Amino acid sequence: MSDFDEVFDLVVVGSGGGSMCAGLVMRSAGKGVLILEKTDLVGGTSARSGGVMWMPNNPFMKRDGVEDSFEKATTYLDAVLGDQKDAPGASRERRRTYLTEAPRMVDFLGSQGVKLTRVTEWPDYYDERPGGSASGRTVVAELFDANELGSWKQKLRPSFIRAPVPATLEEMLELPGLKRSWRVKMLLLKLVVRGIIAKITGKDWVAGGAALQGRMLQAAVRTGVEIRTESPVTELIVEGGVVTGVVTVKEGRPWRVGARSGVLVNAGGFAHNQQMRDRYQPGTSVKWTMAAPGDTGEMIEEMMRQGAAIAQMEERVGCQVTLPPGAEEGEFKPTAQGMTASPHAILVDQSGVRYMNEGGSYMAYCKAMLERNKVVPAVPSWCVFDNQYMRNYMLAGTMPGSKKPQRWYDEGYLKQAGTIEELARKLNMGPARLRATVERFNQFVAQNRDEDFLRGERAYDRWLGDPFNKPSETLGSITEPPFYAVPVLPGDVGTYGGVVTDEYARVLRQDGSVIPGLYATGVSTASVMGRAYPGAGSSVGPSFVWGYVAAKHAATSANVGLPGRASNVAQVQVGSLART
Ligand SMILES: Cc1cc2nc3c(=O)[nH]c(=O)nc-3n(C[C@H](O)[C@H](O)[C@H](O)COP(=O)(O)OP(=O)(O)OC[C@H]3O[C@@H](n4cnc5c(N)ncnc54)[C@H](O)[C@@H]3O)c2cc1C
Repeated sequence: MSDFDEVFDLVVVGSGGGSMCAGLVMRSAGKGVLILEKTDLVGGTSARSGGVMWMPNNPFMKRDGVEDSFEKATTYLDAVLGDQKDAPGASRERRRTYLTEAPRMVDFLGSQGVKLTRVTEWPDYYDERPGGSASGRTVVAELFDANELGSWKQKLRPSFIRAPVPATLEEMLELPGLKRSWRVKMLLLKLVVRGIIAKITGKDWVAGGAALQGRMLQAAVRTGVEIRTESPVTELIVEGGVVTGVVTVKEGRPWRVGARSGVLVNAGGFAHNQQMRDRYQPGTSVKWTMAAPGDTGEMIEEMMRQGAAIAQMEERVGCQVTLPPGAEEGEFKPTAQGMTASPHAILVDQSGVRYMNEGGSYMAYCKAMLERNKVVPAVPSWCVFDNQYMRNYMLAGTMPGSKKPQRWYDEGYLKQAGTIEELARKLNMGPARLRATVERFNQFVAQNRDEDFLRGERAYDRWLGDPFNKPSETLGSITEPPFYAVPVLPGDVGTYGGVVTDEYARVLRQDGSVIPGLYATGVSTASVMGRAYPGAGSSVGPSFVWGYVAAKHAATSANVGLPGRASNVAQVQVGSLART
């Protein structure tokens, strides 16, 4: 039997999306919980993210009269995921639990004072399929005044949303239309006023993932969840086949922490581990990821050492990026999401051929690039656009119509030419091929129907485009010189495969048996979304929900095996999930 330096009910490894949610559940059951985070900041990639959670049938949809139900969401997930027999994370039982528990979790967080709301319009990524929602099912945190965290403020990992004025993600998404819309001009005015009031009243508004994890951190600290940074977990402690604790580091020496009800791993994926990428995701690079730096995969490997089955390891939350000079080294890479789905732009492979609906989900987009690359060089592919695009839309994080850095041209990132043929030559493509591709696309624009890839047929494609471009938000001709191209790479915002867990978030062995005392959530696990990305928030959402599910299970189960406690796995009670 172990001698522990300390004992809690639940020990959580990593301060990701599900961690503090699990902490709140444990505290509301009167249990002790410790979160161990290896970096100096709390919140993981979840804090860095947009903080969007895909929460079907959520209470805010009901509030706003947007139709949804468990049955409708089930129909949708089934239509998007299909059977996916090789994706055990997306088993029918787990899908069912996800769809049952997601709205309960939203209610639970509300009861804990975590202020959430929905985004008015963010279509599901396959909204045209049965059960799809054109309004969308996304839930986000309300803007959060980080000053409310007191001394914890310095420990909150910042979001990628950095606006000169305090703005929600939804507001930010509108700003590129500034020059062309009075409504957006009024919005900017509102944001400026909000910024001035914030200065006067001493508020530090944060948005997106930082608002979400900031609010979670505030609730966690308030309810007595213990959180320690710079506390890497190096090992799971296993006794008699039961996970009873972890080894971390305290004041420079190994520190053994016991866990009466279990250990929950919420330690992210392996986006920053090139060796694991080479093994599971060849052809992808740590240089193209935007995941937070702690995403290095060692806890997945540690769970594997303890017999955990893994699945879906080749899956990533792909995110197309375009990297101007200097961007590769930066933590925040400019995304190309929406760029090639905007009017006056297309994506072509290195032979000058268009090969996908540029309006697809970022996961599907990057998969398509890697697939295409098996046949024709397509990494990078090229976003080809014209002067109309340049005038109206953002490029690699720069505002529409702004002067682009000379370095972009000099170092060959941004190609410019007077004709499509000249552009093709600069891209080492056959001029006739690229000309034919552009002409065919222009023909589709004229008839307002993309016969090759149906871009614009679903609400999500149009949402990615420009609401002011008529008749199509996403189709616009490539006709006005100069013509331009920039490279697009299949980057990502994290990996999406890991250990296999059941409908109680318990980690399973290859033979399907449970590893007692071990739970996992987030991208440390094989996702419940399998090999697809049904809607915005399909990573942070599941991380929260499975953290919630794991803690409900742990809080109501017999203790799993500490000295003097019940250690017989058969005594572990399940079935508490339906009670909340
Ligand atoms: C810019 C950007 C925007 C995004 N927007 C969205 C979005 O809006 N919605 C969405 O669903 N997804 C989004 N994603 C993807 C999403 O953020 C991640 O996939 C998700 O946050 C992963 O959550 P997690 O809880 O699994 O892990 P994380 O939130 O990454 O947390 C894991 C934590 O564990 C810590 N850790 C790792 N190993 C150890 C160890 N050995 N000991 C202790 N601690 C450890 C890490 O340091 C980290 O803090 C975005 C990603 C990025 C980069």
